[in-house]
This record gives sequence, C-alpha cells and structure tokens, in this order.
Amino acid sequence: MRCNRALRTPWSDVVAGGWRRGAPSLDASFLCELAHDHGGDHVDYLDELAAEVHVWARWDDTGACRFVVMPPCGVVDHALDPVKREACHLTADHSSGHSWQVTDDTPSLD
Ligand SMILES: [Zn+2]
Ligand SMILES: [Zn+2]
Repeated sequence: MRCNRALRTPWSDVVAGGWRRGAPSLDASFLCELAHDHGGDHVDYLDELAAEVHVWARWDDTGACRFVVMPPCGVVDHALDPVKREACHLTADHSSGHSWQVTDDTPSLD
C-alpha cells in the first residue's frame, strides 16, 4: 500500500483558478509515493532532468516542503524473470518497500 499523504502544492491556487488553453498541466496536490510504513519525509516524483537525475517534492509532517534532486534507488527484484524486472523508481535514500513492492491504490482521476 502507498502512503499517499497529500500536500497542497505551492501552485494549488493557480490550479484552483482554472485553466487557460495551452497551460501546462499542474497538480493541486503532491501525493507521497513511498510505502505506507515508511519513515522520514514524504516524497512525490516531479520530473527527470537527465538520466538518473530526478526532481522530487519532499515534505515533513508539518507540511514544510522543499525540492530535491536525487538519483532513483534502482534496485531490481531478483526473484523475477529478467525481462519483467523493473528498477525501483523511488528516491535513492528511501526507507521501507521498493516501488515494485508498493501497491498503488490511488483512485483514478480519469
Ligand atoms: Zn509518505
Ligand atoms: Zn527502492
């Protein structure tokens, strides 16, 4: 299960103000991608600057948020057929389960 702790993004007021045609798609909230039993800060993946260089929103339980650049964890599940293996995309320093162990039960917004 995913943590899914939400935090309003610094640009949530812009999102609430509505869209203009051609405006980039922005989320009103960050959602933590780590496993529900993780320790430390919450994180949400934002963008890839270059190969293995990812931008994350990172916040604590007080809601203090900062942006960090970090490589992905990259650990693979060796119990799987090499063709089906997927490297963990969470932050290199994450605690708890790898991305391929975390069930994403976020309700679909489609
Ligand atoms: Zn979290
Ligand atoms: Zn991992």
